[in-house]
Amino acid sequence: MTLPPWLSPLAVLILGREPRLRRHVVFVLLTLQLYAVCLGVIWHSQYLDIIPPGLAQMLSWASIAIFGSMYLAVRSGRTQHLADPVLTLPHAVISVGLCVVAYTQIGESRGNVMILIAQAIVVSMFRLKPAHVLALGLYTVSIFALAVGWLSWQDPQRYPWSQGLTHLIVGGATLLMLSLVAKWVSDIRMRIGSQAEELTQTLQTLQQMATQDMLTGLMNRRVMTDLLEAELKLAQRHGQPLTVALIDLDHFKHINDTHGHHVGDEVLKTFARLSGSRLREVDRMARWGGEEFLCLLPQVTAQDALSAIDRLRQAMADSVPLEQNRLRTTFSAGLAQARPDETLEQLVERADRALYEAKQQGRNRCRIHQDACGPSTAQPVSIVAEGST
Ligand code: GH3
Ligand code: MG
Ligand code: MG
Repeated sequence: MTLPPWLSPLAVLILGREPRLRRHVVFVLLTLQLYAVCLGVIWHSQYLDIIPPGLAQMLSWASIAIFGSMYLAVRSGRTQHLADPVLTLPHAVISVGLCVVAYTQIGESRGNVMILIAQAIVVSMFRLKPAHVLALGLYTVSIFALAVGWLSWQDPQRYPWSQGLTHLIVGGATLLMLSLVAKWVSDIRMRIGSQAEELTQTLQTLQQMATQDMLTGLMNRRVMTDLLEAELKLAQRHGQPLTVALIDLDHFKHINDTHGHHVGDEVLKTFARLSGSRLREVDRMARWGGEEFLCLLPQVTAQDALSAIDRLRQAMADSVPLEQNRLRTTFSAGLAQARPDETLEQLVERADRALYEAKQQGRNRCRIHQDACGPSTAQPVSIVAEGST
């Protein structure tokens, strides 16, 4: 809901800024109408001379103090870390206690108090856990029974025990029934809450599965393709350089065959981890398929990208000492810098061609597809960085 501009500062002052805090403060403010009715009953009883002014004042101040302290505690934000940030249970326990005290003091008007107690329980059921709702109901019936017994014992003329017993049976049964309904509502609320949480988690898992490669945690080919499309358009529109590197692990089949598939998996994960730590944050790596990866390096020429990818190649070769370093895990990479007019498919194809050349030339090396800004016909590739195989 949008407020008129002049009301906004007032709303911030009363409710706070943060949405979660606001929701909690609003809930406390909802109880204000119960206190208003309570004060109405007290002053009406005083007006009818049922209770003395001193008692009316005492009950009024007690109501204001309870509401005020609950509001200030929640509004201060200090209750936000609690399991019950609205202080529903202590608020209900104290206000029901006050209602029962009022019941013993306001003579003929006391019937109204039972309605107020019922309302306090109804309001609480939207926030309390089922067990707490039931405990609140039992607490209310117990102190109500004590109050009725005390009144009949103190003043049997005005409060004959038979009348007190009737109040207790009718009030107690109503309160108990309300507590049961409240527990039922609270049960449903908790169930819906946990189902919503499960649904959110499932959605997150699905989203992760749809966008991430499960083994390496890198983005998958589909997401990278979308990202590439967008970045390529952006770079072409602003005339900025953009380079892609297609990376393929060398002799990976051999690693699998000699060390087992699980070691192969570890090598893939190591590559992903290294690429996360050795490249710039803006450089994005994706698992393109099998033991092939695609790296997008925005705002970087092929020459600069080459240094970055070659550093990664070196780090990779140093990082996986298999069989006392006899087997080195290296990769070959083909880089291509985007041309102003080419499509994504053409760009990746040129990187693939450079990769093919790197493999042909003996692996463990990075190559750039030449003529980055020339016509998009097939061009020869040149060796620009290489390691020892
Ligand atoms: P080259 O140097 O020419 O790239 O040779 P290569 O052995 O790396 O390439 P090849 O295409 O012959 O073999 C790729 C291997 O990668 C075959 C496949 O079983 C393996 N591979 C693909 N995906 C996975 C995976 O997720 N885990 C493991 N452990 N191996 C995989
Ligand atoms: Mg390979
Ligand atoms: Mg391959």
